[in-house]
Amino acid sequence: MEAIVYPPYNNCEPKPLTDVQKRILEVKKERNAVILAHNYVCREIQEVADYVGDSLGLSREAKNTDADVIAFAGVDFMAETAKILNPEKTVVLPDHAAGCSLEELCEPMELALFKKKHPDAIVISYINCSAGVKELSDIICTSGNALDIVKQIPADRKIIFCPDQHLGSWIVEQTGRDMILWNGYCWAHTKYQADDLVALKKAFNGAPVVSHPECPKPVRDVSDCVCSTEKMIKFCREHPSDKFIIATVVEMIHRFQREIPDKTFIAARSSRGLAQHCRNMLMNTPEKLLACLENLSPEIKLSKEQMDAARRPIEKMLEMSK
Ligand code: SF4
Repeated sequence: MEAIVYPPYNNCEPKPLTDVQKRILEVKKERNAVILAHNYVCREIQEVADYVGDSLGLSREAKNTDADVIAFAGVDFMAETAKILNPEKTVVLPDHAAGCSLEELCEPMELALFKKKHPDAIVISYINCSAGVKELSDIICTSGNALDIVKQIPADRKIIFCPDQHLGSWIVEQTGRDMILWNGYCWAHTKYQADDLVALKKAFNGAPVVSHPECPKPVRDVSDCVCSTEKMIKFCREHPSDKFIIATVVEMIHRFQREIPDKTFIAARSSRGLAQHCRNMLMNTPEKLLACLENLSPEIKLSKEQMDAARRPIEKMLEMSK
């Protein structure tokens, strides 16, 4: 299998903006909109976004913006979070069908029944869940703050952690806390294989392997660093190596290239030997972003009661991760 190598960005020809990208910037101004984009959306959208980051950074940006419209290039639970934090603002996303396997694998009704079996447990939910699951949770977390949040829970409290079993088991390993884990998983991150990472590391003279905690344990075990996408940037910037093997959604490499332009990044391969994308994030295209800004649709709509209930655990997270 051929390695997928991204050379130092300094050596790449800058690409001029396309007509669609230019039009997005014009309409954004007319609408007094802000474009928030997740690290996993395509390069063309990252280039016109006001902020590109992980779920924690995006939640903070959504909370602090004074724009009238938030165009959220990501998946539906992220746009919902922005709406919950800004009920008075118009929040649009390029494609309403962009969901997430973690969200799909944790239905609010199932969680409600599960909670009844463990009435004394505190529920910590990864932000990758529906507004309905957020309502039933005590605290939300992201991969960037999950460890800190769990460490703040008194040792004698039982914890239900949902919906990602891999992020949950990584926290158990790091903290020694015995949590009850939901059995959800990320469709994209479970496609990486430990053997592939070991082979890449050998082929690239021991280059450090950096993986996301949504990856299964065998992949995490052969990694030099396991962390959120935001922390990956810091790790690669500060580490003396000039090459890194990256086991997270390949669109993230665009951010590495822009922010660390003198280093080389090698994408870990899926089980089919290809670069691993998130099919939900790929539903965000520049054309759909332009259309949602022009039409202010599809728009996120949630009832006041649901937003009030789901805001409580999100604000708790922001408070606990200052
Ligand atoms: S990468 Fe995985 S967790 Fe993230 S949005 Fe895609 S399916 Fe969900």
